[in-house]
Amino acid sequence: MSEKTSHALGADIVPRVTGHMSPAEFRKHGKAMIDWIADYWERVEVEPVTPDVKPGDIRSRLPQSAPEDGEPFESIAADLDRIVMPGLTHWQSPGWFAYFPANVSFPAILGELAAAGLGQQGMLWQTSPATTEIESHVLDWMVDLMGMPADWKTTGRGGGVLQMSASDSTHTAIVVARSRHREADASRMVVYTSAQAHSSIEKGANVAGIGHVRLIDTDDEMAMRAPSLAAAIEADLAAGLVPLFVCGTLGTTGTTAVDPLAAIGEISRRHGLWFHVDAAYAGSAMICEEFRHHLDGVELADSYTFNPHKWLLTNFDCSVFWVSDHAPLIEAMTIIPPYLRNAASDSGEVIDYRDWHVPLGRRFRALKLWFVIRHYGAEGLRSYVREHVRLAQDLTERIEAHPSLQMVAPTLFGLVSFAHADGDEATARVVDAINATRTSYVVPSTLADRLFVRVAIGSTLTEQRHVDAVWSAIEGAA
Ligand code: PLP
Repeated sequence: MSEKTSHALGADIVPRVTGHMSPAEFRKHGKAMIDWIADYWERVEVEPVTPDVKPGDIRSRLPQSAPEDGEPFESIAADLDRIVMPGLTHWQSPGWFAYFPANVSFPAILGELAAAGLGQQGMLWQTSPATTEIESHVLDWMVDLMGMPADWKTTGRGGGVLQMSASDSTHTAIVVARSRHREADASRMVVYTSAQAHSSIEKGANVAGIGHVRLIDTDDEMAMRAPSLAAAIEADLAAGLVPLFVCGTLGTTGTTAVDPLAAIGEISRRHGLWFHVDAAYAGSAMICEEFRHHLDGVELADSYTFNPHKWLLTNFDCSVFWVSDHAPLIEAMTIIPPYLRNAASDSGEVIDYRDWHVPLGRRFRALKLWFVIRHYGAEGLRSYVREHVRLAQDLTERIEAHPSLQMVAPTLFGLVSFAHADGDEATARVVDAINATRTSYVVPSTLADRLFVRVAIGSTLTEQRHVDAVWSAIEGAA
């Protein structure tokens, strides 16, 4: 049993009432946990990326009911190896090429730890001035770092807030757009996005009670066709519907295609629609000047989201949501019950982030982002992204030079999308060969019913040799 401290009330009066871990024990177990995490990172490269378990295997190792008495922390921690580890998919493996990356870094982990240790609840400025002001300030830094319009700073007309996910940001944006048409029936409203957009757009529209979602067709590069968008809006207007919201994607999930933001923005302005940009994955690349041409037209957007938790070394969850004008956002989200009234809020001089998203409570998410930016510096982050893009280009060149392989989309960022010239069966063989290595892992997708391989290069530890290893598997099966 762990040593239990006497409680402030006195151990003899209420013996061992809480079983709190003492600061001394916390220091001991905390240091051991940091060592355990560092050990994990040192060996994650050799772990098979996907676990060998069947549904229910992990659960069957847990006792039927919760423990009646507290347990020594050593035995709790030991179950990380015994129970948890066998059931993990190793997202942090350098051979992780599936979906998109979910970056983690040591400075971000330390930021998470500090945030947990401080236990702040930043719903109002007053409930944690530092949580609010560091978040506002770091997101204002990011406006400059990512080449966004200067007016999107919290010191300007717009402003940024951290959300859990891009799905939350998009849903929030749809709700704000809906709230500008209070007189209209949501079942007659229409949301537009491309046929290649992420499912979170459709889900956000459904959750917001929007009646119609139009998936606009795409061109040869899988980018939204702006004339088709204009035609769809006009047809809906003619049918008496209420065009509400357009989501353009900067870096689609399938192939990282970039929608024509300027053309979409102009159409949205012309018809008074809310224009949202989903840059969940590729938004991180905007830290490098050479990718900023993809932002052309972003100044016409009403809102924008991207996830540092995908490709900017910041642990999940960390999704940036910017608005070009914070007034409609706050108007849609504010409800002030008497118990939340306070002088700071009434003064109008502070940001109360509870008015910038759906949840009331919020944790100190900005701490890890602040740590990451300060640890790596902007230049460190730029070279991190550039190295992954270089690796993706390197793999692309090898695929292009191979007689049996064909690129199915251009490599714009860190994602390489290709197929076998002989068709789906041969492409599936390539996928199986990569995954049979157990230390590299991909998840295929389809485009116009054609199977293709997605190699998403962007994990924190991925280096040239890991891309060489995936190439060996590809070449061996091609
Ligand atoms: N948008 C795009 C383009 C994505 O690729 C993804 C996830 O991969 C999302 C949205 C959803 O992101 P989140 O998990 O943060 O909701």
